[in-house]
Amino acid sequence: MKQLIATQKEFFNTHTTKAVSFRKKQLNTLETVLKENESLLNEAIYGDFKKSGFETYVSELALLYHDIKQAKRNLKNWSGRKRVSTNLLNFPATSYIIPEPLGVCLVIGAWNYPYQLSLAPVVAALAAGNTVVLKPSELPANTSNIIAQLINENFDPRVFKVIEGGVPETTELLKQDFDKIFFTGSTKVGKIVYKAAAETLTPVTLEMGGKSPAFVTEDCNMKMTAKRLVWAKFLNAGQTCIAPDYVMVHERVKDEFLELLKAEIEKERFAFENDNCVQIINDDNFDRLEKMIPQDKIYYGGTLSKESRYIQPTVLQNISFDDAPMQEEIFGPILPVIAYTNVEDAISKVRTFPKPLSCYVFTSDKKTKQKILKEISFGGGAVNDAVMHISNPNLPFGGVGQSGIGSYHGKAGFDCFTHYKSILDKPTWLELPIKYYPHTKNKLKWIKRMMRWQ
Ligand code: NAD
Repeated sequence: MKQLIATQKEFFNTHTTKAVSFRKKQLNTLETVLKENESLLNEAIYGDFKKSGFETYVSELALLYHDIKQAKRNLKNWSGRKRVSTNLLNFPATSYIIPEPLGVCLVIGAWNYPYQLSLAPVVAALAAGNTVVLKPSELPANTSNIIAQLINENFDPRVFKVIEGGVPETTELLKQDFDKIFFTGSTKVGKIVYKAAAETLTPVTLEMGGKSPAFVTEDCNMKMTAKRLVWAKFLNAGQTCIAPDYVMVHERVKDEFLELLKAEIEKERFAFENDNCVQIINDDNFDRLEKMIPQDKIYYGGTLSKESRYIQPTVLQNISFDDAPMQEEIFGPILPVIAYTNVEDAISKVRTFPKPLSCYVFTSDKKTKQKILKEISFGGGAVNDAVMHISNPNLPFGGVGQSGIGSYHGKAGFDCFTHYKSILDKPTWLELPIKYYPHTKNKLKWIKRMMRWQ
């Protein structure tokens, strides 16, 4: 590892990676490698947790292709120096900002969208002119292998190299001297990464999780709400960082909402049956989720098969904030529904949790919408939809507080791997004497006057 990072640093210091043409070439290579190997990628992820080619394309590869295309289209503009105005005190001068890559970057991926979460930060890092060491999650072993194989066969290791492994390898990587660490995963491990980075004052972006609420008010379009929530919650068997973790529904419409949820799940039955369904990633997570289901509170679902790591989409009712599924991020196909009588109380309850990664508001009432958006702090979200905000690259994606530090995707991704170097550029033909000794009253008067014209 030490040797690899030293080699990447040496290469970075040749300034080769800073050329726009070089960055484009890396992005083109990545795009070609992915496109030419889609069937291998599909096979690997299906082998890990039975994720279908359709879902892999829609929720992983399509996002990567879009990020690559957008980065290539905007590279010249994003990486060019930006002129800004100069204040009177500095006259005569020009002022500008030079975007510069940070250097050698470490990207640590999570398992639940293994291609997208490992490679989207890499797209941003390469576009910004950095070199990258990627450590994908070890849990989906086949996808980790195929990423390593394809990248290490097709990229110069001085620019982009994949190192596979779990906790020991990541711990070792975190001891190395990187210029940036980008981590996706749990809040618990995020803290470990943050502590390690503090030792060397390495800048970090932490993309973590949390309990993302969905509010369903009396006046929403109930049928559409149920449809969109069922899709968002049970996509990838609920193993989505921005999945609605639980629903706060107005008491007066709770029964209607539960009925509609059930109808929507049954409509999608084919996708949710054991044979077609994305699996729970491993036995540990299966056991964790199983313990979370209070048998007396199952409204719908509750069928489990440990052998095939299958949990039927399960809706829980009469849930309180003290129940098991409300004690941690669920990250599985279990949806607790909690009734509220007034929105103020519901907001107060939600705010007892750390700031979530997402929040969703299903309502047609403008005031309620504004109130929830204003009074709850969260990473990002949607109104009358869920999860889909991630698919708009113009919306920076990231958490706040315990759900994350920093954001990425689109231009935000480029910024996340870039230092903006500010320059005041002065000619030598004129120098105003007012800042120099002797410090007279008259000079101070002039400085104060000039400060008014900032
Ligand atoms: P995780 O924190 O267990 O693992 C993430 C990465 O950290 C893996 O590469 C793993 O090898 C490494 N790791 C694990 N333990 C470590 C340790 N002790 N020291 C050093 N490295 C270690 O997370 P996960 O199970 O892969 O993913 C699930 C979590 O990630 C959920 O909380 C979810 O909300 C969150 N997540 C967030 C986003 C986001 O974009 N914000 C996306 C996906 C998942």
